[in-house]
Amino acid sequence: MHIPDTWWPKSGPRLDPSLQPCFRVADNVDCSLLPGEPVGGFRPVAADADGRLETNKVIAAQQWNGPSPLIVVVADDLRVPGCDSVFGFAQPAAGVAVASTFHLRGTDDVGLSERLGKVIAHEWMHLRGRPHCAEVGCLMHPVTTVEELDARPDALCPRCRRRRSWKGAAVAAALIVVLFATIDFTVDALQTKSRPFHWRRQGKAAELLYRGEKVLWFPEAESATSPSQNPAETARVVASRLNSMFVKIDPPVLSVTTAAGVVRVVTADSPLFTVTPSMTGNADVVPFAVSWAAGVQLLLEGKGRQGESCPMCHIARRQQVRESMTRPPRFWR
Ligand SMILES: [Zn+2]
Ligand SMILES: [Zn+2]
Repeated sequence: MHIPDTWWPKSGPRLDPSLQPCFRVADNVDCSLLPGEPVGGFRPVAADADGRLETNKVIAAQQWNGPSPLIVVVADDLRVPGCDSVFGFAQPAAGVAVASTFHLRGTDDVGLSERLGKVIAHEWMHLRGRPHCAEVGCLMHPVTTVEELDARPDALCPRCRRRRSWKGAAVAAALIVVLFATIDFTVDALQTKSRPFHWRRQGKAAELLYRGEKVLWFPEAESATSPSQNPAETARVVASRLNSMFVKIDPPVLSVTTAAGVVRVVTADSPLFTVTPSMTGNADVVPFAVSWAAGVQLLLEGKGRQGESCPMCHIARRQQVRESMTRPPRFWR
């Protein structure tokens, strides 16, 4: 049997349209009824006391593990729990369906092959992930009598032909969710990467953090008379200014000034913050400030710590980056 291309679900667990079912046939079935050559190796099971075959037992007995799904054709009546009579039954998880000719005979054998073809096509679609369809004029509409089977067309209705199988739709939906989550995550990661300095309140004091690690401590102000002496406000401003320096190819140079006994870390154009003895943890203020400024300068220029990225490489190649920014774009590259 060659399944026409129009019957294929647009997507599903098995997408190869050249994939055709394999057949195994019970000894008492006339092979000429079949639309294809059986592969042989049918494994029989004993019938129940009423002469019917348990569909699950038939399917399990085949131990099928072939490259494409298997359709087993038997002549005996089938039993499916909850059904009076069935023409066929598919177990997509096992990749096996079973069809029976038992109820397909009318007054004569005329049309038997055609009916079996319809049952096989219907079960084949189930194996490919197709659910039942409410449309009477559809191959996937479930039927219980030979008359209904004869009336049922052997093609999918337009809606089924258009519709992706629910498995395909579910996979597509899951992929979209994953895609958006990834984009979100990446945007978040990029934003965090370009804003590595943060600050947080610690009681009435505040601390400055570089990628979660404390790099400076702003102790509680001795006299909270002006906003500039508010540690949280100072930490917020310093973090924000350091972040805007971090994204520059040529960040300003940090240096240390001493004027009238007040030690400050400054950039070329403005003071960043005042260094007080309570910030240094008993270290001398000036050496502390100088070493702090040098360490942070390396972070700003190298765009990270040694090991965290490649700071020396960033610094060494800055000239190249600068040149590439001023060069007109070359689209043919
Ligand atoms: Zn069905
Ligand atoms: Zn349909």
